[in-house]
Amino acid sequence: MRALRFHDALDLRMDDVERPQCNIDEVRLKVAYCGICGTDSHEYQAGPILCPSKEHGNLISGAKLPQVLGHEFSGTVTEVGDSVKGVQVGQRVTVNPAMDDRHYGLETCEVCQSGRPNVCMNSTFYGISAQGGGFAEEIVVKPCSLFPLPDNVSLKLAALVEPLSVSTHMVRISGFRRGQDALVLGAGPIGSALVFMLKEAGARRVFVSETIELRAARAKQAGADRIIHPLEEDVLKVLKQEMPNGVDVAFEACGLQSTLDTAIAAVKPGGCIFNVAVHERPITIDMNLLTLKERRLMAGNAYTAEDFRKVVDVLSVKGKEVESFITKVVPLQDAIAGGFEELVKNRSKHNKILVELSPE
Ligand SMILES: [Zn+2]
Repeated sequence: MRALRFHDALDLRMDDVERPQCNIDEVRLKVAYCGICGTDSHEYQAGPILCPSKEHGNLISGAKLPQVLGHEFSGTVTEVGDSVKGVQVGQRVTVNPAMDDRHYGLETCEVCQSGRPNVCMNSTFYGISAQGGGFAEEIVVKPCSLFPLPDNVSLKLAALVEPLSVSTHMVRISGFRRGQDALVLGAGPIGSALVFMLKEAGARRVFVSETIELRAARAKQAGADRIIHPLEEDVLKVLKQEMPNGVDVAFEACGLQSTLDTAIAAVKPGGCIFNVAVHERPITIDMNLLTLKERRLMAGNAYTAEDFRKVVDVLSVKGKEVESFITKVVPLQDAIAGGFEELVKNRSKHNKILVELSPE
């Protein structure tokens, strides 16, 4: 079968590889669509970062380079191992790519038992740090990773479940409640999904700070109440006029010193600054700004099954509203030039590029 594999930085290849074996406790999928994530772009440009190391591979999964990329995917079940219950050939599914103790036949660790398998001591991901990925014609996964799709959720939309689950998770663990107000700094793919899920969670007002017009427009479409252009307006001044006490939660989705500073200053006493950005270098935090107003600084990583179920439910009702998150669909043979390279050259033009492996 054909698979897009990461060999080294700036060295992705469309390789002919052997079909994976489907063991008795596994399920084979024919992949339909797989989204290109910021993580994939980072690996492509500067990896291996999360991909297996060149020296010894991944210590948990044993995966070695070259690594099949792709962790935002949907597909159809084509083979079910003999010991698997409750999964049928022909079922349409999306996959939670986060792997934990269960995937390795281990007893669940203390972290998993506390309801955080997303930060398990044995955490790996399909398409990043474990065998198999979504940019391949087929993948074999454990049945606990599958989420069946309702008839009214297309396989194309189902490739958005993973990125939307990230935002759902962050909103949920931030403690955000219906009727509260939020600020989102940065309206890239995660930022715009945050806006959508915040409105879905009953946000009263969602402010967005974004410099790029196309992204600002997308945030508006996702439900933002007020877009602030931080180079033309003073974000804190605008907020002060409209929200004198500050917002309840500020989501930092840029990863800059200036945006973190704004996030801290924008939050009301007792509120939450929530980091979803991946930072390229350490930054400075004035802890007194947290201490004196009892502001909480939090961060989150990935998602759990609960977040996946929630997003599938939301898509079955409001799928149409997120279709515009998909800005381009390319066939597998064009994934490097039309997908990965396109994101290097025209990043701000795009929200989500999907690779089509088999149409519906
Ligand atoms: Zn665990």
